[in-house]
Amino acid sequence: MNDPLSNVLHIDLSRKRFWTEDRSELFNEMIGGSGVAIKLLAEECPKGTDPLAPENPIILAVGPLTGLYPIASKTVAMFKSPLTGNLGESHCGGRSAIAIRFAGYGAIIIKGSSETPVYMSIHGDKIRFRDASVIWKMANSTTVGRILREKESGSGIRSIMRIGRAGENLVSYASVVTETYRHFGRMGLGAVFGSKQLKAIVISGKKNIPVSDMKSYRETYNETFKLLSSAEMRKYHELGTSMNITPLNELGALPTKNLQESKFENAEAISGETFEKNFLGRRVACAHCPVACIHLAALREVYEKEPYFYKTEMISYDYELIFALGSMLGISSPQALLKLMDEVEILGLDAMSTGVALAWATEAQQKGIITTKETNGLKLNWNDEESYSKAVNYIAAQVNEFYKTLGKGVIYTSSKYGGKEFALAFGGNEMPGYHTGPATHLGFLIGSRHSHLDNAGYSIDQKALAKNSKLTPEEIINKLIEEEAWRQILSSLVICFFARGIYKPELISKAFKTIGKEINEEKLKRIGLKILKEKYRFKKREGFIIKNSEIPERIFETTTPSGNLSKEIFNEGLKIAELKLDSI
Ligand code: SF4
Repeated sequence: MNDPLSNVLHIDLSRKRFWTEDRSELFNEMIGGSGVAIKLLAEECPKGTDPLAPENPIILAVGPLTGLYPIASKTVAMFKSPLTGNLGESHCGGRSAIAIRFAGYGAIIIKGSSETPVYMSIHGDKIRFRDASVIWKMANSTTVGRILREKESGSGIRSIMRIGRAGENLVSYASVVTETYRHFGRMGLGAVFGSKQLKAIVISGKKNIPVSDMKSYRETYNETFKLLSSAEMRKYHELGTSMNITPLNELGALPTKNLQESKFENAEAISGETFEKNFLGRRVACAHCPVACIHLAALREVYEKEPYFYKTEMISYDYELIFALGSMLGISSPQALLKLMDEVEILGLDAMSTGVALAWATEAQQKGIITTKETNGLKLNWNDEESYSKAVNYIAAQVNEFYKTLGKGVIYTSSKYGGKEFALAFGGNEMPGYHTGPATHLGFLIGSRHSHLDNAGYSIDQKALAKNSKLTPEEIINKLIEEEAWRQILSSLVICFFARGIYKPELISKAFKTIGKEINEEKLKRIGLKILKEKYRFKKREGFIIKNSEIPERIFETTTPSGNLSKEIFNEGLKIAELKLDSI
């Protein structure tokens, strides 16, 4: 039986046409996921393409273990990012990967732009361009999901990816919401959907996936499942990533009030422990994942006009959301924080960029760089949930020139209004919630998507702190590149990074064997480096130069657990990184 993984589905929204192409050679060379997606992006995206132009492709890719092994449940999206103007990459779970794989595709390429709002309905080989005029401009992305669930077949196996108002209005950090609690959150995939008038994709299928040795497949599957159900993974199920709020705060590494501080006085009120004790409603999982790390808070609220009637909203929370919409904005009420998270979900915004943008705006207003004239009458103050809630809506609705600018990110906004020194973005992408030491920030600067997920610099800092050792810039860069290269393998197999300690080279080789492929540790590492090189090549092609990286002054002003950061280490680190990445 042929493996449908090598089928690439092309969709042209301008001409309303689609076709499939066999790309076995590409999947053999680059595995799947990130590896395949970066090659397809380089092929399909002409140099210098405007991220919001019809020529910017959206690539969605899954991997050879998807549907066969647990937790290979992520879909990789690649595109040119409207936020950074360079390589855009975002990963999403839910049912997205399993649905694409069972529909019979390894990758989907969407190009062109529709003249009127559409959504794609892909049920195996049955592909339709559907009118989305009725759901375009609908205020709540959750309602859009509900309508599509009723309209489309595939209940229980389908995935529904859709944008909210922010994506329609081309906010550069608009997200794509998948199912209800998962997202292609970062780097503005939602705006690329919006620029194509693509409201949603519904996808399902029932294709078979071939296995060459059923007996060893069963054995390897059971071994993997057991490992994923072990104590090592329980922490993700129990408190989830929100468990990090307390230790990072105690360490002095939790960015607070636009990183003017690295400890939040009210951290306990918004910690994972508080959420678990007072709000946790249930835990859910992405398809084919025994870990179930998605934590949903049940927020009971009274109806405004009916004081005796209550509604209960289920709101997903995790570390990054708590940092970005919580400590970064000085929010100390967990209820207020949950409401902000819900707002961001409904509007289809990336929580991290939104929180960092609002934190910048608050400081800018306090310093007199912007006034109520710009903010549409709002006085932004730390811990003022009402103003933040309004501001989030103003960003999504793009109500005036200032919010249109803020919707393009803090680097763009500060280049227009001033306040660059406290605009917390790296390579154009707003910062994640770690101020642990030099490795985390060097990691953001050199990582291919400027994210903590690229190379986990925060972990390098924390390990060095635990050993009481100071790493040289060269040691830091070596560790960052080694980690990022290995993560290319995981993201090409679309394995959730939480399982990085389980899917080691030996287990991956075994799993490959059961699908008739030989691959050893050395070859895996070679491919990892090759994928990293392809990404770096694309970034250079689009104008990225490591040594020209802008570093916000603020990270040198606010102390980290490793002490105050030194500019010399950064200058040296960037030089070394450039040389090393050039020579891969
Ligand atoms: S561990 Fe969490 S994010 Fe990862 S696949 Fe499972 S449920 Fe999804």
